[in-house]
Amino acid sequence: MRTYFAAAMVALGLPLLGLAAQSRPELGSRTKRFVTVEAPVVALLHVRVVDGTGTAPMEDQTIVIANGKIGAVGRTGTVTVPAGAKAIDLTGHTILPGFVGLHDHTFYTTSNRAAQLDNSAPVLYLASGVTTIRTTGSFSPYAEINLKRAIDNWRYPGPRMYITGPYLTGETGMGEMQQLLTPEDARRVVAYWASEGATWIKFYTTVSRAVMGAAIDEAHKHGLKVTGHLCSVSFREAVGLGIDNLEHGLITNTDYDAAKTPDLCPLGFEAKLANLDINSEGVKSTYRAMIDKKVAMTSTLAVFELFVPNRPPLEQRVLDAMSPEVRTEYLTSRARLSQPGAFAIPEVVFKKALEFEYNFAKAGGLLAAGVDPTGNGGALPGFGDQRNYELLIEAGFTPVEAIQVMSANGAKVLGTYDRYGSVSVGKFADLIVIRGNPIATPADIRNVVTVFKEGIGFDSPMLIESVKGVVGVR
Ligand SMILES: [Zn+2]
Repeated sequence: MRTYFAAAMVALGLPLLGLAAQSRPELGSRTKRFVTVEAPVVALLHVRVVDGTGTAPMEDQTIVIANGKIGAVGRTGTVTVPAGAKAIDLTGHTILPGFVGLHDHTFYTTSNRAAQLDNSAPVLYLASGVTTIRTTGSFSPYAEINLKRAIDNWRYPGPRMYITGPYLTGETGMGEMQQLLTPEDARRVVAYWASEGATWIKFYTTVSRAVMGAAIDEAHKHGLKVTGHLCSVSFREAVGLGIDNLEHGLITNTDYDAAKTPDLCPLGFEAKLANLDINSEGVKSTYRAMIDKKVAMTSTLAVFELFVPNRPPLEQRVLDAMSPEVRTEYLTSRARLSQPGAFAIPEVVFKKALEFEYNFAKAGGLLAAGVDPTGNGGALPGFGDQRNYELLIEAGFTPVEAIQVMSANGAKVLGTYDRYGSVSVGKFADLIVIRGNPIATPADIRNVVTVFKEGIGFDSPMLIESVKGVVGVR
């Protein structure tokens, strides 16, 4: 039918689709059912814009989207709206750049399970405004490679994906993680995942310095970058070995454990952080090492908050998204946190983690963010990224700075800031349309109406509705 229609158009002497539209594959049916805006030229009128660069919000703006990119941004009335543009009045709404989630797994855990969420994770990320993710440790690398391909071809709705291979760790690694025992192991494995399409490598807690150094060297030879959730190797040591990014901030940094043995992950070091002075020379030296070598830090406050008693606020939408068994698992482990003897992160340590990240950024460090939908299961893909926004504000960032951390800074870490990460002319039209004003009222961050990815507008509530009751299962 389609071939016949195209042939008929040519016969009538009518132009086919525009060039840019032809360069993008046709939307698959699974994607198309969530699309509410698909036009060669779109004009978003009368909207507040927070552009992601740290600039103050701009009122009553017009954004013109042409062929998937931002064609113009400026005060409504001063920007020319091309004839034939699909015009949408967004009075009372705010536009933010699509979020770049740097610790955004497509698998998920509770205290009782780990599940690959091919169906619900990409949908919830996109619905929440996360238009780009780095998976930062795969449980099912091939599931992610296939998912990325389906999203790139517009067959599946979801964020643009940067994938890592499996978690690379030491001899005590369990489950789906890959154990690396020698530098030779490290080189062979990194070269393999590079050949399969991974663009990042992710270390886990028990890798040795010798293995890490070899893996980083091999990764860099293949043009890959490297990050890690560390423990056996401290932040300063990893910076010395050439790592590009460090995950999770303070609660995984063993720089300050006086009893630490080289290459071993010290037991219970997290609790000692309660006594750490965040303004001490030791902390400053970590910041200096990272900033000198341009090593970024990824904030994942939403997952740590799950282990702090009486946090986070219990959201109905989170419970609704979970399958019934997962809901029970989450509520049970959440209740257990307040009981004596349970593993929990003391509020004082959590507060220091907030301070550690804020001071790092204020010292000139590059801080980005991601949800990490693991732990006891309460930080869901996308929803947890939004919760990060409130936690970054709690840490001391202004709302405008928090948006910058979640968008522009993520793209800078990926090395793709020239293509997206801010509301700027010439970049992809990756835009979050929010009802209300999340700058004045941070909780409004949840009121996502439409998410544009490369100019295609997805209906957020419809996406969320489609995965109700399945998180933790598929
Ligand atoms: Zn993780």
